[in-house]
Amino acid sequence: MAVAKQAMQIRLPPLPSIKDIIRLYKLRALRELSQNFLMEPRLIDKIVRAAGNISNNVVCEVGPGPGGITRSIIRQYPRKVILIEKDPRFIPSLELLADACKDKIDLDIITGDILKTNIAHFIPDDAKVDWNDPPPPINLIGNLPFSVSTILIIRWLEMISKQEGPWSFGRTRMTLTFQKEVAERMAARILDKQRCRLSVMCQSWCTVNYKFDIPGSAFLPKPDVDVGVVTLTPLKNALVKQPFKMYEKLVRQIFSMRQKYSIRGAQTLFPEDVSEEMAFKMYKLAEIDPYIRPFQIANGEFSRICEAYSEIIKMYPEFKNYDYRAPKKNVSALVENLE
Ligand code: SAM
Repeated sequence: MAVAKQAMQIRLPPLPSIKDIIRLYKLRALRELSQNFLMEPRLIDKIVRAAGNISNNVVCEVGPGPGGITRSIIRQYPRKVILIEKDPRFIPSLELLADACKDKIDLDIITGDILKTNIAHFIPDDAKVDWNDPPPPINLIGNLPFSVSTILIIRWLEMISKQEGPWSFGRTRMTLTFQKEVAERMAARILDKQRCRLSVMCQSWCTVNYKFDIPGSAFLPKPDVDVGVVTLTPLKNALVKQPFKMYEKLVRQIFSMRQKYSIRGAQTLFPEDVSEEMAFKMYKLAEIDPYIRPFQIANGEFSRICEAYSEIIKMYPEFKNYDYRAPKKNVSALVENLE
């Protein structure tokens, strides 16, 4: 039975090509929404294939635009498709698709901003599995503008850390596009020269796979950069036990001086008068060599440093909200005196 389902595909009635849709509905790409439409069916199908077998799954596509990827998703016969598109100009072309598969697939079109939409609201309850089970039959797929996808992934990682939203249904998988360099950084392992804060954040909660590149020339209009397709699957046992925001702050500060010994960045977590003492104490508690550089620290080691950071904060709660970039008190006093 499962084999029959895998092979099942929907044959859509003849539809205008994406090129014709763009012309027909006068869908000029808007620069302010960083719209670049993927025009090559072969590459579109490759993105959808990267998500694995989606037949009978609930698939949420973010930023469907004129619907190129949507068509490819529909052909795989998912159980339900949820489309979230910010630009209302695309709705008629998406409704055309909804109409073409109306007897076979439940398709929701939501006009809205993905950063403000509660996707979980549209996912049927029976798609839910336990966190420790294999991932649920739910996929998030998107070719979003680069500016949105980077903010979105950090937001989604925080939701994953709390098992909220689409991750209240289990370890929901994602297939997303990013600017090639960003995609490479997300997947960069320890010692890789592209290793950065984003690599550690992504890999502390997810298995990250860099699937393939898409040349800028495959899009209309052509963006200045190439694109990388990445899949992320939440880890059963996340490496981090501390709150997301605490970990994010720690990793950010350690990478803030990426060419220096990592202890230098770690010092910026504490007020200047105790920074050296506290940072060394933290590294000692975590049993990490203070003289390694940020890109030489493994994901698990970052989580150990965070455990130690949390211990120190328990001892000295006044350090919790310490912000290295905030104006120093004595400087503001000086300014006040001048006024
Ligand atoms: N998926 C289409 C494709 O591959 O050809 C369009 C890709 S285009 C790079 C990005 C799409 O995301 C556009 O349709 C744009 O309107 C939409 N978009 C941009 N910001 C968004 C947001 N915050 N929420 C939802 N959609 C957004």
